[in-house]
Amino acid sequence: MNSDNHSKRKERRLPKRTLWMAIALAVVGLIALLYYFLPKDEQSASPNQAASAATLPKIVSAVAAGEVKTLAVRGDVLVATKTDGSKITARKESNISAVETLKILGAPADALAELPIVIEEPTANFNPTGILAVLAIVGLITFLIFRNSRQPQGQSGSGYNFSNMGRSNPRVISNAHDKDSKSKTFLPPPVTFRDVAGADQAKLELLEIIEFLKEPDKFVKLGARIPKGVLMAGPPGTGKTLLAKAVAGEAGVPFFSISGSEFVEMFVGVGAARVRDLFKRAREQAPAVVFVDEIDAVGRQRGASMGSGNDEREQTLNQILVEMDGFTTDTNVIVMASTNRPDILDPALLRPGRFDRKVILDRPDVQGREAILEVHTRGKPLAPDISILDLAKLTPGFVGADLENLVNEAAILAARRNLNMIGRLEFQDAMERIVAGPERQGKILSDYERKVVAYHEAGHAVVMHNLEHSDPVHKISIISRGMALGYTMPLPEGDKYLRSREAFEDEIVGLLGGRAAEEIIFKRITTGAANDLERATKLARAMVTRFGFSPTLGLRTFGEEQGNPYLGSLGEIRNYSEEMAQTIDHEIRHILDTAYQRAKDIVVIQQRKLEALAGALLEHETVERPTFEALMA
Ligand code: ADP
Ligand code: MG
Ligand code: ZN
Repeated sequence: MNSDNHSKRKERRLPKRTLWMAIALAVVGLIALLYYFLPKDEQSASPNQAASAATLPKIVSAVAAGEVKTLAVRGDVLVATKTDGSKITARKESNISAVETLKILGAPADALAELPIVIEEPTANFNPTGILAVLAIVGLITFLIFRNSRQPQGQSGSGYNFSNMGRSNPRVISNAHDKDSKSKTFLPPPVTFRDVAGADQAKLELLEIIEFLKEPDKFVKLGARIPKGVLMAGPPGTGKTLLAKAVAGEAGVPFFSISGSEFVEMFVGVGAARVRDLFKRAREQAPAVVFVDEIDAVGRQRGASMGSGNDEREQTLNQILVEMDGFTTDTNVIVMASTNRPDILDPALLRPGRFDRKVILDRPDVQGREAILEVHTRGKPLAPDISILDLAKLTPGFVGADLENLVNEAAILAARRNLNMIGRLEFQDAMERIVAGPERQGKILSDYERKVVAYHEAGHAVVMHNLEHSDPVHKISIISRGMALGYTMPLPEGDKYLRSREAFEDEIVGLLGGRAAEEIIFKRITTGAANDLERATKLARAMVTRFGFSPTLGLRTFGEEQGNPYLGSLGEIRNYSEEMAQTIDHEIRHILDTAYQRAKDIVVIQQRKLEALAGALLEHETVERPTFEALMA
């Protein structure tokens, strides 16, 4: 098991112990109750245990002899007090009265008539067990309420508890082992970089943060402004939370974690109070890491949702910003936040001095997946015919969480099949389960589809590489990302404020490179180019209608964009004639056709290089700039 699971277990430990105590109390209460309710008759005899029918004749003879001073009746128990002070206790049948019983047994009627008989209510007895039972139950309820109110919010299901609303209840995992080790007996082994496989780039960027947490003086002495916030962006399950924990683990500092989505449903003001409290505690325990999970839940762009501003969200976000701005140069607290929607974040969050470091976590490629599988199969008995690399190759699109799940499911299957090793079949079945399950987002492509995607992306890259005005290709990948099945990333060299017509034309050619490769290699085209075509069309339209790049249509612009920043585009006002519209359409078509022909020409000429690149993509899934340029040379 990996150590992330250990820490989860630790987080649950406190409520578990509580549960046991509650169960013990409940059992005690139940026993007391049973004792109280069931043998009621015996209870009433408790003053004298020797009550039985056998002593009845003794009472009778004592009555006959006139030796009985008083007779007490408590339910079915008779207690005769003799003149000498001694007592005889006996038990009668319940459906017959005491006097009658004695009469039947031969006690003289006149003696009985003179006998003072005291009837006592059996329930009037002092009953210690009953009171104990009541006490136990009251105690139990109090205890449960008390405990419940102290349970961390994160263990959801307990609802809000109002007495405690403003406190942040962060989940703290302390990694400081050496300090007062006694009270930390239940500490999980800290998560370290060893538990995070792949993600080398991200780790590299976080090294500095760790160094700072360990030795802040080194930085402060030189007057360096310490980074405050690190934003970790990436699809769900790629290890953002894990990596944040690992940073705290590597630095050996406490880790405070809180989730943005917790704030969304709260009352106005509560979120802000919690944030304040959380930061206060972190500062007290500095150096520390504060982790705000799912920050997009509170950090959405303000004003983006028309009118209905969410006050709570806004106040919570503001409080986070206020806290971060309030850090002085020697505040040794690093705020790490995670999101899978960096695009919708409020720009105020990303300003310098706030979350100005950005660490990107991508879906892992083959090597990354292999490394992650290594981590999660550590200490698990695998059948000798299993190759981790093969497993990695079979799982394109899987993120770390999926891979962990895969190994776990396979282990569960093996256990249920009473095997002592996890075999190939178990992995296969586990894979089917996971792929069929609803949670996964990555796509699994057939071999043919993978090949098409590889050639498509290779097409973009090769075409771009052979264009004069195109930016150099930075990275090509066939790992699906959101809607796209693959991507080719050009790296703009410096900002450009003026772009030439040729640059526009080349960009369109590059966009059409994917479709061109598909057509030439497979003689068959797919829907994979839909997004490329859309973008190419937009560019072509802009060339014609905005920038006056078309010789046929001249310098005038066409259409007027109407809209406002809050409401978005309201569409276009058409300020040209129907014939003009047709000419525009022709012109756009002409631009696209010319560009497509150029793209196809390049693909035909460069076909060998294209194939080499597609092969590399099929094998490694991602190809970075140096490898790419070597292939093109
Ligand atoms: P996120 O916060 O990005 O949604 P998590 O950090 O919660 O993802 O990751 C979920 C689980 O997936 C982790 O607990 C870990 O077991 C596994 N995991 C994810 N990425 C990695 C990785 N790079 N190396 C090892 N395990 C990983
Ligand atoms: Mg997470
Ligand atoms: Zn494309």
